[in-house]
Amino acid sequence: MSQLPRHAQGVVYKKSLGTYFVHTPDGSVTCSISSRLRKELIYPIADRSSIIHHRVQEVRDIRQIDPVAIGDCVRFLYADEGSTGVITEVLPRRNKLARSAAGKKELEQVIAANIDQIVMVFAAARPEPKWNLLDRYLVTAEAAEIPALICLTKLDLIDDGAFEDELSEYQALGYRIIRTSIVDQRGIDDLRDSLRGKTSVLIGKSGVGKTSLLNAVQPGLGLRVGEVSQRLNKGKHTTTQLEMIGLDTGGGIIDTPGMREFEAWQLDDGDLALMFPEMRSLVGSCRFGLDCTHTREPGCAIVQAVAQGRVSERRYHSYVRMLE
Ligand code: ZN
Repeated sequence: MSQLPRHAQGVVYKKSLGTYFVHTPDGSVTCSISSRLRKELIYPIADRSSIIHHRVQEVRDIRQIDPVAIGDCVRFLYADEGSTGVITEVLPRRNKLARSAAGKKELEQVIAANIDQIVMVFAAARPEPKWNLLDRYLVTAEAAEIPALICLTKLDLIDDGAFEDELSEYQALGYRIIRTSIVDQRGIDDLRDSLRGKTSVLIGKSGVGKTSLLNAVQPGLGLRVGEVSQRLNKGKHTTTQLEMIGLDTGGGIIDTPGMREFEAWQLDDGDLALMFPEMRSLVGSCRFGLDCTHTREPGCAIVQAVAQGRVSERRYHSYVRMLE
C-alpha cells in the first residue's frame, strides 16, 4: 500500500491493553504506541517544580498511566503495509478529564480529551436526583472548562413543576437542562440535537435510565454503550477499556460507567469557590481576601451573599461539603 502517506492523523476512539483504535477518514487503524512517546509523557503533575524541570518521574510504573486518552488526536506512522500503525505524537489537547491514577496519587490519568460537553444524567424519580452530586459534577466541568448539559430522565414519574426551584436555579447560573421521558418522548429530539456532531462524556449513576435514553436517541445506541459498560465492569483497569461510540449524526458518546466520579483532584481548596459561577465574582472581596475559606471567617463576602439570598444555601452547602 505504497500510496498511503507515511504519517497520518486520527482520533482515538477505543483502547484496550496497549492497543489503540484510531479513526481516520480512511477507516480505523489499530495502533500501538512508540516507547519514546510513552516515556516522554509521564511527568509528575502534583509537584509543580518537577513539571518545570520536565523530569520523568518513574519509568517502571508507566504502564498504568496511559499517555493516550480516548478523544486524543494523534499522529501515527503506518506499519505492516498500512494494516497497523505506531502512534508517535499526541496533538495538544483542547481540554481533558483526568483523575489521579490508582495507587499513584501524584500522577495524572487522563480519561478523555477534546470533549465538547459533559452530559450529567439524573432521574427525576427512582432514584431521586442528588443535587449535591450534580454540584460536584458541575465543579468538575468548570475546572476542566468543559460545558455541562444537565439531562433529567423519567419526567413522566413526577408532577409538573416538581424540582422547578432547583432546576430554575441551575438555569439562572447558565447551565442548560433537558427534561426527558422515554414514555412520552419529551426532550428526546432536543437531546439528539444537542449530541449531534459533538464529543460528549456521559456521567450518571446506574439506574438513572441512561441505556433507554440513548436507545431513544438512536436505536441500538444504549445497547452498544451498555456492552462497553459490561466489559468495563468485568475488568480491573476500567479506564484502559473506555470507548467512544460514534453517532449516526456525527460525534460520539463516551460513557463512564462504574467509575468513581471524576474529582477535580488538582483543584486547590482555595480555588473551589471559583468553580461556582455565583461565587466567582465575590472571591477576593472577603475581609481576609484570598485567604478566606468562606466558612467561619468574619467579613466573608460569600457568607454574606448567602444570608442575603444572592447565593443559595443549598449550593453553598455543596461548596462546604466539597471542602471536607
Ligand atoms: Zn469569604
